[in-house]
Amino acid sequence: MTGGTAAGTAERTALVELTDVAKQYGNVRALEGVSLEVHAGGVTCVLGDNGAGKSTLIKIIAGLHGHDAGTLRIEGEETRLTSPRDALDRGIATVYQDLAVVPLMPVWRNFFLGSEPRRGAGPFRRLDTGLMRRTTREALLRLGIDLRDVDQPIGTLSGGERQCVAIARAVHFGAKVLVLDEPTAALGVKQSGVVLKYVAAARDEGLGVVLITHNPHHAYLVGDRFVLLRRGTMVGNYTRDGITLDELTQQMAGGSDLDALVHELRRS
Ligand code: ADP
Repeated sequence: MTGGTAAGTAERTALVELTDVAKQYGNVRALEGVSLEVHAGGVTCVLGDNGAGKSTLIKIIAGLHGHDAGTLRIEGEETRLTSPRDALDRGIATVYQDLAVVPLMPVWRNFFLGSEPRRGAGPFRRLDTGLMRRTTREALLRLGIDLRDVDQPIGTLSGGERQCVAIARAVHFGAKVLVLDEPTAALGVKQSGVVLKYVAAARDEGLGVVLITHNPHHAYLVGDRFVLLRRGTMVGNYTRDGITLDELTQQMAGGSDLDALVHELRRS
């Protein structure tokens, strides 16, 4: 199903592997027969239009929803995730498009939100702000992100910069798998390029990345594997050597649906 080549990564145990996964909401079949692999140092792109099932797939990998059928393996072990905390404890970090940040708080404060280091003892215990500032700066630089000032409120950063901070945060806190929910959807060309650069940096740090997108160009810039969803079913699952950018674009454009539309519009 993966189409991996003998010389490729097929023999290595995947960090995350879904096989024939399905999910139903009441009578609505949101996903059916979806399989994918995420490997260390690789980027698996999930492409699909609205209603394709991308969010449902993320929710299964992020531990928000259980799957109804099929299997989920993490590092070879079949499992069911019970909560987002469970997913995080197993090294799966998810960065949502509408990042949960506190806009008026500085970048470093947001970076450590919920896991602040403290120093001192008893009533004198307090936040180690110096350490947090320093660590944030170092964690950003590690991925090559040169932010002018980690003291500025995170709300003053551009959307792309905020995505980059979230990626650096996941890497710093030891994620093995990074799930990115349409990180470039609301961004212009230049900012999208910057975000994709840091997606590649996370990959080069050895993380396995799941990149959700509806942009085949963005996917092809960084992707090793491409899973195409349409109306809840998997219509394609390719390794990079199995599909060209043109083919991916054609598939995303709707393939024969698009040809029919072109024909119809021409007549009218
Ligand atoms: P995408 O993220 O690709 O737009 P979704 O995963 O949000 O796709 O949706 C896939 C299908 O499942 C759609 O038909 C959608 O209407 C349906 N769906 C998603 N979430 C729910 C829900 N909580 N209850 C009922 N139907 C849902």
